[in-house]
Amino acid sequence: MAKPRVKHYLVNEKYEDPGLVIEIDSLGEYILFDVGNIRKLDRHLLRKVNKIFITHTHMDHFIGFDHLLRNKLGREQTVEVFGINPLAENLYCKLQGYTWNLVEFEPRIVFNLKQYNSGLFEYYSYDIKKKFARDFIKEEKADTDVIYENQYYRVRYAVLDHKIPVMGYSFEYKDRLLLKKDSIKDLPLEGRQIGEFKSFLADENNRGKSFTIDGREYGWEELREKYSYVQEGIKISYITDVVFSEENFKKIINLVKGSDVLYCEAVFLPEDREQASKVYHLTADQTALIAKEAGVKKLVVFHFSRRYANRWDRIIEEIKPIFPNVE
Ligand SMILES: [Zn+2]
Ligand SMILES: [Zn+2]
Repeated sequence: MAKPRVKHYLVNEKYEDPGLVIEIDSLGEYILFDVGNIRKLDRHLLRKVNKIFITHTHMDHFIGFDHLLRNKLGREQTVEVFGINPLAENLYCKLQGYTWNLVEFEPRIVFNLKQYNSGLFEYYSYDIKKKFARDFIKEEKADTDVIYENQYYRVRYAVLDHKIPVMGYSFEYKDRLLLKKDSIKDLPLEGRQIGEFKSFLADENNRGKSFTIDGREYGWEELREKYSYVQEGIKISYITDVVFSEENFKKIINLVKGSDVLYCEAVFLPEDREQASKVYHLTADQTALIAKEAGVKKLVVFHFSRRYANRWDRIIEEIKPIFPNVE
């Protein structure tokens, strides 16, 4: 069955600032992974962005926040921000870099932040009406690798080593049970009953139970087969700014395994392995190995070092023998 309509693409060229966009029109969800230079993105899209996942706050991953903020002004909205300590501090400092004395006339903009910090999730809120003061909301034990989840998708994370802790992310659109529209219209169900019927079918715990339609009982398996189908989910992972270590390798594989698409940095050529490990980045062959070991369907590479100007093709050429489905 067709995959859900989820549009995903890199913000920039492969040798420019990293960043990934995920657009889900049907849900009104517009997600950015990293906010480096984002000037190429359409301003209508920037206005709609409602979730931001930051890997870390090196400049090439966060400098675009000002540009985003500017495009947000003038429209009431809440933006959810996710990342790792010291993101809360960095965001606060960015917001305090401007004077907000006239904001009483501005529509309300709120940034709600959730960051991982040494085994805890910390929650902060920054409200334009309070001149973006940093309000600490709460903290809780981070006893899950899911940093965000709703009915339709979840985002998982892994804390990786880049000489500082950074986040790797995996976006997982869940499998969904949908009703076969043509068959369902013959059933004497209406309005709320259809919702109940769908919930009954969607819940695997109802296996062996029955549902009553017009005074007659029907089994879960029979109804499910006849009136519904499962729309398979999609998994998109985003890994950047990591050193090739045994621990990183294990954590990345665990996070991204089976991805439909893995977006992963490939900064250096194999011959510059020493430089790569010195600055805590991956070489092309290391990236290829990750994609292969994780059994992803497709690999998209980026964050190419500028030292290879005009011979960036070589990075992809190095990957192909190990992992052919790369672009
Ligand atoms: Zn970095
Ligand atoms: Zn970087």
